[in-house]
Amino acid sequence: MTEQLKQLNNLIGGKWVPSSSSHSETVFNPATGEAIHSVPLSTFEDIDQAVQAARVAFGTWSKTPVPKRTRILFKYQQLLVEHWEELAHLVTLENGKSYDDAYGEVQRGIENVEFAAGAPTLMMGSQLPDIATNMESGMYRYPVGVVAGITPFNFPMMVPCWMFPLAIACGNTFILKPSERTPLLAQRLAELFADAGLPDGVLNIVHGAHDAVNGILEHPSIAAISFVGSQPVAKYVYEKAAAHGKRVQALAGAKNHTIVLPDADLEEAVRGITAAAFGSAGERCMACAVVVAVGEIADSLIDGLNQAASALKMGDGSDRSVQLGPVIRQSHKEKTLKYIESGQKEGATLLRDGRKDMPVSEDDGYFVGATIFTDVNTHMSIWKDEIFAPVLSVMRAQTLDEAIAIANQSEFANGACIYTDSASAIRKFREEIDAGMLGVNIGVPAPMAFFPFSGWKHSFYGDLHANGRDGVEFYTHRKMVTSRL
Ligand code: NAD
Repeated sequence: MTEQLKQLNNLIGGKWVPSSSSHSETVFNPATGEAIHSVPLSTFEDIDQAVQAARVAFGTWSKTPVPKRTRILFKYQQLLVEHWEELAHLVTLENGKSYDDAYGEVQRGIENVEFAAGAPTLMMGSQLPDIATNMESGMYRYPVGVVAGITPFNFPMMVPCWMFPLAIACGNTFILKPSERTPLLAQRLAELFADAGLPDGVLNIVHGAHDAVNGILEHPSIAAISFVGSQPVAKYVYEKAAAHGKRVQALAGAKNHTIVLPDADLEEAVRGITAAAFGSAGERCMACAVVVAVGEIADSLIDGLNQAASALKMGDGSDRSVQLGPVIRQSHKEKTLKYIESGQKEGATLLRDGRKDMPVSEDDGYFVGATIFTDVNTHMSIWKDEIFAPVLSVMRAQTLDEAIAIANQSEFANGACIYTDSASAIRKFREEIDAGMLGVNIGVPAPMAFFPFSGWKHSFYGDLHANGRDGVEFYTHRKMVTSRL
């Protein structure tokens, strides 16, 4: 079947060219199980060609005046807005998330382009004219060179847009290695950037998996790597890239807790948590994976979540009324079902069994219904591990201190939320919780282009985070010039 599928090409130096690899993988529509494309598993040779093209382009692109560079980003932003619906449909097709989620993802991606278009201001240095008698000091910013981005399947638009628009606006040239499970959107993003006038070789795309990633990690002419993906791969990428002398930021997995206090607006909490736990089929790094209900609100919260989960419409995300799409692959569905079994074996109560909602035929897409466990404790694998699927654990605590202590035991620390009306509880939560992205009375503290996106602990490896001013720091070198005049 794979032979008949259209094989994607790599984008190298402005030309779409076939990979040198004879290996490929099939891209599926996860809502139907239909094979839609074939993606090459590119080799070191392909990466090397992309690096050579990016190095050549760097010579002129890095010297192109910054306002001239960003004029292309303004045009790109217009094109992305014009193609918003097309891009959202493509996200739904290859990832499976609902059209509304996909539409929101496109917005987040566009915002990154808007932020990057501020490069003339963002790249400014600073001066002190009188650092000593007749002496002045100044700091100047320069691009770092050829930068690579390695991205996950779950946000095929937003996550690449955290990387290449800002890196390119800062004068770098870029090689994107999109997820082999969702490679189509990257292709379209590159086509539209070329339509906006981006010179050849500034953005290159190399499709693939492990071999392509290893090629990036080992290539001597790649200066910096942005990675987003699962925790073990993030740690591997961070260590190997650093060992090869590269600047690296590696954003990793998550197990986000939401604490609900007795004074919370119950309806809001149920609505927000349901969307955060089951939206995008739980395949978000900011998904709510664990609810810690404090005190007497627990019973009514659990009832509310159960009812709301049962009211979700599951199906193909291209149907506008669908709220819960499939998980990404059959293998991921099977892994999720194993976690549901292990939760039962470990003694948690399976309040809502999403397996009962699954289509009868295996050929009908990779669906797992919204699943809720109660009586979960911190020894269970369903609490410890990132499941990355529509499986929610609910725990109980007597106090806010106890709830924070539970969340802080997790090895992950990407995000955390609280539902409460109490200013002092919000302050305590903000001061004491171990997590980089906090939400107060919201389900998902989504990353914003304008601020750094910041996980802690095993949710992040590196120093400078993605987005915002951290992104500018990551994609630029500084020079200090001290002059006697
Ligand atoms: P993944 O780690 O499987 O893949 C990410 C990238 O790494 C892909 O491009 C893939 O080709 C490559 N890769 C996979 N295995 C590799 C290996 N053994 N060696 C070298 N490269 C390898 O992640 P995924 O399943 O695509 O994405 C989901 C994960 O990403 C979740 O853990 C999620 O929490 C995480 N994520 C984190 C953030 C964040 O901001 N912290 C954002 C989105 C997703």
